[in-house]
Amino acid sequence: MFLERKMSIYKLFSILMLVFLLGDFNGSIIEAANVKSKSNPLVLVSKGKAKRILKFKKEAFQQIDQFSEELIRTARQIWEFAEIAMEEYKSSKLLAQLLKDNGFNVEFGAGGLPVAFVATYGQGRPVIGILGEFDALPGLSQKADSVTQEPITRGEPGHGCGHNLFGTASAGAAIAIKTIMQQHKLKGTIKFFGCPAEETVEGKTYMARDGVFSGLDVCLDWHPSSKNQVSLKTSNALNSFEVIFFGKTSHAAGDPWNGRSALDAVELMNHGVNCLREHVPPTVRIHYVIPEAGKAPNVVPDYAKVWYYVRGKDRQEVEEVYARVLKITEGAVLMTETSHRIHVITGVYNYLKNKVVATVLHHNLQLVGLPSFTPEEQEFARQLQRNFGKKEEGMSTVIEPFSEPKEYIGGGSTDAADVSWLVPTASFNVACWPLHTPGHSWGVVSCSGSPVGFKGMVTAAKVFSGAAIDFLLNPKLIQEAQKEFKEKTKDFVYKCAIPENQKPRIGDKR
Ligand SMILES: [Zn+2]
Repeated sequence: MFLERKMSIYKLFSILMLVFLLGDFNGSIIEAANVKSKSNPLVLVSKGKAKRILKFKKEAFQQIDQFSEELIRTARQIWEFAEIAMEEYKSSKLLAQLLKDNGFNVEFGAGGLPVAFVATYGQGRPVIGILGEFDALPGLSQKADSVTQEPITRGEPGHGCGHNLFGTASAGAAIAIKTIMQQHKLKGTIKFFGCPAEETVEGKTYMARDGVFSGLDVCLDWHPSSKNQVSLKTSNALNSFEVIFFGKTSHAAGDPWNGRSALDAVELMNHGVNCLREHVPPTVRIHYVIPEAGKAPNVVPDYAKVWYYVRGKDRQEVEEVYARVLKITEGAVLMTETSHRIHVITGVYNYLKNKVVATVLHHNLQLVGLPSFTPEEQEFARQLQRNFGKKEEGMSTVIEPFSEPKEYIGGGSTDAADVSWLVPTASFNVACWPLHTPGHSWGVVSCSGSPVGFKGMVTAAKVFSGAAIDFLLNPKLIQEAQKEFKEKTKDFVYKCAIPENQKPRIGDKR
């Protein structure tokens, strides 16, 4: 009953949304009927064209099914490489080679990052971008397909955010779209962005700073998840920075009066910031760790380093709080007679979701539908949930309603947000691990190398290809996405948080 009511409200919302979006297009009832038949979202095309679009999409989905084994092999290899941010030499090479073998022109070095690349196919407009990521997380080594925590090598990295599935689905989609473009002589350009170092929120930020995303008409993004959804939710803006304090060393018992402790400065700074928490807006989040705090208690530390994240609902909020944190660092320096240096690692915007692009993604998620999981896979999911002490609900088998979030939920931060302020962008999720699985956990690593993850990945590749075909064949969709984007970014000037001349740190595991 409740479900029925929920469904009818959802249907009503969908119809209202369509009426709203069709308003500008003078769409007839017949056209609206096409939308409801899922042949084409936000339809402005004749029935004949709608049929053609649907035919091309089905061909793309078949393509993806046909080479799904190759995609799974690729995702499994990247899972095994488990390379952390800025060190994704093997992972990026593997994906780039796959794209190259399938007719893409590949260029490495985007944004000054040796492991970032852009793979391009086609010519002219529209230019459709697809984001791909492939970095792992440190310390999360874990066996695939296991319902208990079993590191392969304790302390080594693992794919705790499913980026092996992320990059591979995106590359697979780009290849399927290219094949359709080639077979049917469609005009346009498809660009796959091999984006490293998402986990440190750096890759796309450097790429955005260097104009790598300029010239795109729309950009498509996804992320593996426990749910199937197109969300209009934003993410938090962020500054990530280190404060390094320099003191004077001395014997902590023999002549402590000659020492000036860099660790004291870190502690006083942290205390100051912890007092500040009471006096910042509730949307602000501040966290820190102390990577360097001295080596022995009997030596006054002359060097200490604290690493901070300041998050907020937008760049302005982050910048305001960041400025206050900087004042606190100066106070800590004064109190301890030390000196200090600030190193801004990175910073990003909040995610600006484009509703038109999101609607196209949502319709294509509905069109593709969800993978079916075998009873064994569902049992695997429930066992995993049991071991995490979560509700044993298995893998999600529903698509979440498409709606505006009722309240602000910032959550984490992503460097895809910077792309979203440069080009109309939206993102979707496909379930690749059981509901309630904690993010960045061994459970995600296990699923990202197992059949449940691979099924989600193949579904995501199809959703991308369907959406790209809509944009390729229906230029009005791009116009509408651009119109919305221009309204939302009126008077906006992109200012990258990473200092202009700062070079990316380069990983050395070549
Ligand atoms: Zn991630």
